Amino acid sequence: QKARLVINEARSKGATEVVEFQAQEVLRAYNLPTPNTVLARSSDEAVAGAEKIGYPVVLKIASPQISHKSDVGGVKVNLADAEAVKNAFFDITARAQRMRPEAYIAGCLVQEMAPKGCKEIIIGFKRDEQFGPLLMFGLGGIYVEVLKDIAFRLAPLGRDDAKGIIREIKSYMLLKGVRGEPPVNFQAIEDILLTMSELALDFPEIQEAEFNPVLVNAEKAVVADVRITLS
Ligand code: ADP
Ligand code: MG
Repeated sequence: QKARLVINEARSKGATEVVEFQAQEVLRAYNLPTPNTVLARSSDEAVAGAEKIGYPVVLKIASPQISHKSDVGGVKVNLADAEAVKNAFFDITARAQRMRPEAYIAGCLVQEMAPKGCKEIIIGFKRDEQFGPLLMFGLGGIYVEVLKDIAFRLAPLGRDDAKGIIREIKSYMLLKGVRGEPPVNFQAIEDILLTMSELALDFPEIQEAEFNPVLVNAEKAVVADVRITLS
């Protein structure tokens, strides 16, 4: 219901993309694991947010016109104290303003840092006119463009499909763990895939959705970035 509200509101504004902070509401409505996040409109609010969340934190530019945040230097991770958060806030907003003068800058998202040693994966879907939602799974982060290690499945996905699509990528071994590393929590990944499939079927007006990255370790998986594109 909450998810429906968020999507309707974005559509009524004529937006083709749901802003990240709102998109997170959709994820929460589907019980998807999201990091604690607050929207800060000033550096003081950013520090207050960080204090509430607990250090270290991540700061991300919050602007409806900027969806590829790193392209404008809009993401800073591992901020360990108030000083670092303040500086990052000024840095990020000033740079975004300079690089995208036309953009409305709401401020920054302050976000809980995922634990060290997580692996980055991508989970997404694209709606094909003929075949419907096509789910995508792959290794994320800096490797995705280089390796093009991605697998696809048509929705709806069942548990076995989710297991299958995960095993299909070449980097599956990395997820199983090398050199005595523990395997990542595969069930958590499957759950996200199944929920993504549900989301695709529940909202025909979502043209595309991408969780990039999902950060996963042996304990859990968390959706650290989300992009939802409407038709
Ligand atoms: P972009 O819009 O550039 O894709 P992201 O939100 O994906 O921005 O952040 C860029 C990168 O920063 C991610 O790919 C990930 O490596 C890292 N990152 C983002 N959020 C977190 C987080 N909560 N914890 C740890 N690392 C993060
Ligand atoms: Mg991203």
